[in-house]
Amino acid sequence: MSAVPSDTRPATLRIVSPANGELVGEVPIDTTESVRAAVARARSAQPAWGARSVAERAEVLLAVRQKILANTDAIVQNAAAENGKPRHEGLLHEVMTQLELLSYFAAEAERILAPQPIPLRLLKHRTSYIHYQPRGVVAIIAPWNFPNHLGFGGAAMALLAGNTVVLKPSEFTPLSAVLLRRLYVEAGVPEDCLQVVNGYGDVGAALIDAGVDFVEFTGSVSTGKKVAAMCGERLIPCVLELGGKAPALVMEDADNERTLNAVLWGGYANAGQVCASVERLVVHEKVHDSFVAKFVSRVKALRVGDATKSAEVDVGPLVNQRQLEIVERLVADAVEKGATVACGGRRIEGPGYFYEPTVLLGVTPAMDIANKETFGPVVPVMKVGSEAEAILEANRSHLGLLAYVFTRNGARGRRMAQQIRCGTVMVNDVIATAAAAETPWAGLKQSGIGVAHSDEGLRHMCEARHVNHDAVPWLSRELWWFPYHEANLGLLKRLLAFLYGSGLGRLFPRS
Ligand code: NAD
Repeated sequence: MSAVPSDTRPATLRIVSPANGELVGEVPIDTTESVRAAVARARSAQPAWGARSVAERAEVLLAVRQKILANTDAIVQNAAAENGKPRHEGLLHEVMTQLELLSYFAAEAERILAPQPIPLRLLKHRTSYIHYQPRGVVAIIAPWNFPNHLGFGGAAMALLAGNTVVLKPSEFTPLSAVLLRRLYVEAGVPEDCLQVVNGYGDVGAALIDAGVDFVEFTGSVSTGKKVAAMCGERLIPCVLELGGKAPALVMEDADNERTLNAVLWGGYANAGQVCASVERLVVHEKVHDSFVAKFVSRVKALRVGDATKSAEVDVGPLVNQRQLEIVERLVADAVEKGATVACGGRRIEGPGYFYEPTVLLGVTPAMDIANKETFGPVVPVMKVGSEAEAILEANRSHLGLLAYVFTRNGARGRRMAQQIRCGTVMVNDVIATAAAAETPWAGLKQSGIGVAHSDEGLRHMCEARHVNHDAVPWLSRELWWFPYHEANLGLLKRLLAFLYGSGLGRLFPRS
């Protein structure tokens, strides 16, 4: 796989504000050769980094945490400039999430990565344990919608586990990555242990092809399939965190005020460009009309604007022209097939890629907007007549990242949550577990493979190696070794009958 030939490719990424069209920065684009060189440097640096103890690496990552805290304003500013993110979201979604992730894993990594004994059933005279070793060089390929939190959450975990990292941020948001990488290095992460390569998809592909040991990819389903195919051809293990179509099921007993506020934020935070955004609002018919009326009036009150100019902005722009056109297409298709626009429904003329916060009523499964990821400030509303119908709608999707259930009845909420096939289901809340690094973040169905975050996510960054050793050193041979005799065949048969039949098998069927 080679990147675009050097004579036809642009030399730089020009980053333009999605809110006002101004040039906010420029970064050089990497070539296949420079990507390979970065991976080679990361490979050379890994043994020394991996040889440090987990506690020593955790110490460095706590210094990174302090650097991030000290540079909060610059991070928030970058997220507003290249991503259009409101400043509250820059602070909470991009800074706080990282501080929390670094804190959790720095405190817990020694426990999580400690060798794990395996109690043995059959081989009682031996002992087994798993120990966790770094994989080597980890490639991280990140999207634009959380340019700090997503790529660097994975990078922090990979580094803690003793790997070195080469990170490819989105072509739309490289400035955040360049800044954060500088902060990591200033805090004490050696230069070659964390590198950033920039460019379009071909640079991501070149990174996978450059001899890395593990890939963590976050992005769209369609690119995820390409990444999985490349990893498959090379037998590189990978984690894929892909798209979502989160349903919010509002039951007839849902607490109105909390539900309204939660769904409003869940639908329009980051202008709806969150993999966990409320992408389908499924409301019980008994409360549908009154709930929707209140919801629409709150959506109309959202303030849309340029976060680089004001902190009084709830909803920023879409990230680019392509995203704006996807939203327009999905809304047009829904209207053509019978949906009603309760508010919004148009792009906002002027500079930037703004779209009015929109609510669509009467949405049915026949409409694209009920099936395809919108990734915009549009909430399609569907009416259902029962709990069972709501669960059917939730599970209809080919995606299975997040889902939400709203009910005042705790037992009912948990019962419904357990019937929904998604990586995470929250009851009476939205999105927030993205900030709880100790919980798993994982997509089912076409939303992904593997898990980010959680103890399991940190162990994913390691090779889990099994050691089995003798606990009784003086045995000269095992029953199943050569030579085979009629006599020990009989003994083995009796042993099987004892273990799995009327002897121990009857007394201890499961141990
Ligand atoms: P995208 O798939 O277009 O791009 C993601 C990254 O992959 C970018 O860095 C891009 O340059 C790179 N890339 C593109 N083609 C490639 C190739 N052939 N090989 C290797 N890398 C390649 O996604 P996007 O538009 O940046 O992000 C939005 C998508 O990400 C949405 O679908 C969203 O749901 C998803 N997402 C998922 C999660 C999650 O945790 N599950 C989180 C955030 C975003």
